[in-house]
Amino acid sequence: MKIMKFGGTSVGKPERMHQVKDLITRDNQRKIVVLSALSGTTNALVGIGDALAEGKKDLAKERIDALHAHYLDFYKELLQSDAGRSKAEKIIKEHFEFLNIILKISFNEAINRDILAQGELLSTKLFYTLLEEKDVPAVFLPALEYMSIDENGEPELGKISDRLKTILKNYEKETVFVTQGYICKNHRHEVDNLKRGGSDYTASLIGAAIKASVIEIWTDIDGMHNNDPRVVDRTRPIAEMSFDEAAELAYFGAKILHPASIWPAQTYNVPVRLLNTMQPEAAGTTITAEETGVGVKAIAAKDGIIAVKIKSSRMLLAYGFLRKVFEIFEKYKTPIDMITTSEVAVSVTIDDDTHLKEITAELDKFGSTELDYNQSIICVAGNMIAENTGMIRDVVVALGDFPVRMVSYGGSKNNVSILVDTKYKNEALQRLNDELFQW
Ligand code: ADP
Ligand code: ASP
Ligand code: MG
Repeated sequence: MKIMKFGGTSVGKPERMHQVKDLITRDNQRKIVVLSALSGTTNALVGIGDALAEGKKDLAKERIDALHAHYLDFYKELLQSDAGRSKAEKIIKEHFEFLNIILKISFNEAINRDILAQGELLSTKLFYTLLEEKDVPAVFLPALEYMSIDENGEPELGKISDRLKTILKNYEKETVFVTQGYICKNHRHEVDNLKRGGSDYTASLIGAAIKASVIEIWTDIDGMHNNDPRVVDRTRPIAEMSFDEAAELAYFGAKILHPASIWPAQTYNVPVRLLNTMQPEAAGTTITAEETGVGVKAIAAKDGIIAVKIKSSRMLLAYGFLRKVFEIFEKYKTPIDMITTSEVAVSVTIDDDTHLKEITAELDKFGSTELDYNQSIICVAGNMIAENTGMIRDVVVALGDFPVRMVSYGGSKNNVSILVDTKYKNEALQRLNDELFQW
């Protein structure tokens, strides 16, 4: 069994959905097809939720109507038969009636998550209707029946696996299964989600749960590039990467993969392939346990970082100081990304500022705390970087007189992280690209 996940742009236009149908019917292998919402839909749903949260019902209604109009155009181009079209009309009517009912009731976070789920529900139902119209036999596999997260928002892989296997036992001969990415149930049995970009995570979790032969992530680019193609000129796809390298890049901002989407595949050693729906013959990127090549493979950047510096004269020669600092972050469930230390101060970075006030209040007991907002972590990732002594020189040369706030090197053999003010990020990425890769 293989997993084929198609992102928003891959299903965002009727002709693309047709292409997806062609791609999944190229062979007779059993496959679970995971779909995102049509591109733009989840953003639109976020906009509807935001308007409702602010009590702006008219604005929410305007946004619902605009999205509704988009789907009414979409299905007419997607489907040709009367049966297919009337089924699609019913699907769209049902989901937009739901959104319109929400306008009339009092809004809360659980309702917001229900709103966000509409995108993947719509895309999978419309795609399934297309398969029916084209006489492609397929099974509709509702994600809300098997995908779940616990009270900490972590996927329950064991339960997901048990439920999926039980469902799949009923369909031993069927080859195509269609399911939603992103959405799940939480520990209160409410509709929830795996965070933005979460369909990749769904694909990896399913791949791990059923020990698939491969997890294919089909998107709008020919694989993981060596740098962010949205901001850097001259980037190129990377043919092979290890799970560790890919995880590092995904976590540090390579948008092509959801940050958590590598660990399930890595845990069960399922290869991940990144492929281009618009250019299916391109080799893309293959991610496996194997470590290939030595040196820098790629650079990624993560914005929205806050640097927290804790200065304390008591730190000098004191053991247990770092533990006390970490315990405060742990208490507020705030993960730390980077850390650098000196004898009198320690700097850490976080991207979640939900409890920043409480954290700094507690840190102030140790000494003084300074905060730098609007920072970006630039992650230079590859294999055996620490052994490649010339690399750090190249990084320093590339950055030249650039103001660098923190550097983290030697934590793993897979990466060097550099913290800069976000206003310098694009130029830093370009400079590193020009210095670290030969063209
Ligand atoms: P999907 O909707 O298919 O999930 P995403 O928009 O989430 O697609 O991810 C694909 C996009 O990620 C690409 O179009 C590209 O602009 C962006 N991207 C950012 N960094 C990288 C990178 N290092 N390699 C490839 N794509 C990247
Ligand atoms: N539709 C969701 C989003 O836009 C999930 C995904 O596309 O992966 O974030
Ligand atoms: Mg994505």
